[in-house]
Amino acid sequence: MPTFDELLQKSAELHQHLCPRQVLGVRMGLAGGQWLGLDVPQTGKRLLTIVETDGCGADGIAVATGCWVGRRTMRVFDFGKVAATFIDTATGRAVRVVPSANSRQLAVLAAPQAASRWESYLLAYQRMPTIELLTLQEVRLELSLAEILSRDGYRVNCTRCGEEIINEREVRVGAETLCRACAGERYYRQI
Ligand SMILES: [Zn+2]
Ligand SMILES: [Zn+2]
Repeated sequence: MPTFDELLQKSAELHQHLCPRQVLGVRMGLAGGQWLGLDVPQTGKRLLTIVETDGCGADGIAVATGCWVGRRTMRVFDFGKVAATFIDTATGRAVRVVPSANSRQLAVLAAPQAASRWESYLLAYQRMPTIELLTLQEVRLELSLAEILSRDGYRVNCTRCGEEIINEREVRVGAETLCRACAGERYYRQI
């Protein structure tokens, strides 16, 4: 298992710098894995992570857990929060991890020698006890794992635009099988 410092280094390499949110992400990923009793970073696909924002924290979490968007073991549900839910897909147990409500204030106190707030977060997030830094709460998913994960090899074509849809993300409207864009959730406009 890589050490905490090795995880930070790996995250910083991906990211071309080390910042407080990556440190937080690494701590969150380690805490989530530990709560579930799973070895992280994983080499398989048992652990699924749902992150609630993209950015630096997600890189730290990915490095610490071995969960990646490209491996379908990390999902981004963008709620704009540095928060993540770690799910053991073998048991369905899930834990949501967020920075504790007073983590910023505690960090400033924990690194009084820091030159700036940013630096105090960077330093303190590396050494604060988990109980001060993070809040962990067992949760139950509102979506089934089957819905989130879907099935390998499944695909259909949208009856309107003809584009291929995988992972059962199509929408049935009357007799039509539509992609989400054609069903009205389009985020772009053709010009
Ligand atoms: Zn960053
Ligand atoms: Zn379509």
